Amino acid sequence: MSTERPLENRMSESHAKVRLRELGKTYPGGVTAVEGVDLGIEEGEFCVLVGPSGCGKSTTLRMIAGLEEITAGTLDIDGRVMNDVPARDRDIAFVFQNYALYPHLTVAANIGFGLERRRRHGSLLGAAVTGQLAARRAESQAIRERVAETARILGLEGVLGRYPRELSGGQRQRVAVGRAIARKPKVFLFDEPLSNLDARLRLETRIELRQLHRRLGATIVYVTHDQEEAMTLADRLVVMHRGRVQQVAAPLEAYHHPANRFVAAFLGTPGMNLVDGRLHRGDGLERFVAGDLAIDLPAGKSAAAMPGEICFGVRPDRLRLGAAAAGSPWTGTASVAAIEQLGDRMDVALELAGRRVTARVLPDAAIAEGATVPVGFDPADGHLFAPGEEGPRVG
Ligand code: ADP
Repeated sequence: MSTERPLENRMSESHAKVRLRELGKTYPGGVTAVEGVDLGIEEGEFCVLVGPSGCGKSTTLRMIAGLEEITAGTLDIDGRVMNDVPARDRDIAFVFQNYALYPHLTVAANIGFGLERRRRHGSLLGAAVTGQLAARRAESQAIRERVAETARILGLEGVLGRYPRELSGGQRQRVAVGRAIARKPKVFLFDEPLSNLDARLRLETRIELRQLHRRLGATIVYVTHDQEEAMTLADRLVVMHRGRVQQVAAPLEAYHHPANRFVAAFLGTPGMNLVDGRLHRGDGLERFVAGDLAIDLPAGKSAAAMPGEICFGVRPDRLRLGAAAAGSPWTGTASVAAIEQLGDRMDVALELAGRRVTARVLPDAAIAEGATVPVGFDPADGHLFAPGEEGPRVG
């Protein structure tokens, strides 16, 4: 039996709390795709699961949706355990990468599709139960109003009578979102919804989604492999790697204070420069050494680290080159291997003491490929990570 409430009874919409407790998934073949995911998603939160391909994002989302069986842990929505509740009874709307619209239906009919289906199954206003003509009319009117409201929210009023083939890619994507919104589900799930759009449209739609979230205040769980998309959309990021959560934090928190080396390397374009070396400590001195590269660390920087193997990381935008390097607490020289001009800035690939690092700097004609240039930065802006791909940050 459906647990859906009649539409008109819903005063607060799309504001559910979602709780994942030690959630895990092992596929029948034995692949463990998700392990021990512990996560509380707040009412109205825009939560983005992000990580490289194969890290378990979609599997996690599909378990929330009820499209994939949960093999470990529990999922609850608004305090109710959902593990064994069928997808159709979870009151969740799912927007996929391939937002298949019904080609033979108009935009209005596509948006209203879920409502129509519910009406026919008798859960809308309960009219099918009573069978009264007046009630059926009221239902149709309610659907028309909901479709109109959705179209207004998404700026689709002008295209309600068109068919999907008569729409641009961005409009189609909005219709798919509209179909989800019209139902007023408890939770919205998005799986890479922008990946079929070109770069410009992706950017525009990203902004629209963010604005839409602000207007609806809905609980959204969103999956993407694109860290920039994740950073710009999320209230909170959930960075995943190999089926496990690496960090849950606001985007800037994760960017500036990555929990471990994986997060440091994954967030940011280009990612953080990471150099493996050793930590030496003694007589008030804390020094990072990697071959010919030696960096004296500010007092206390490495307090949580053990002397020995360590990784030093610094973001490309913290490096200074050429004249701008003068006066930095640490200075040296590097040769310029390659330059990528981006207009307002440039990414400079450097050979520094035999290691490849990247600097993101303002355009500077004095920095040319093949040249040797001064390089400087403040070691206080650096990070220290314990050894290993997921080595925790220790300074
Ligand atoms: P992501 O969404 O982060 O790219 P997925 O959740 O799709 O990752 O996949 C996580 C892991 O689970 C991958 O190793 C993938 O190959 C595996 N996987 C996904 N779906 C299945 C399936 N139906 N059967 C077996 N393994 C699967």
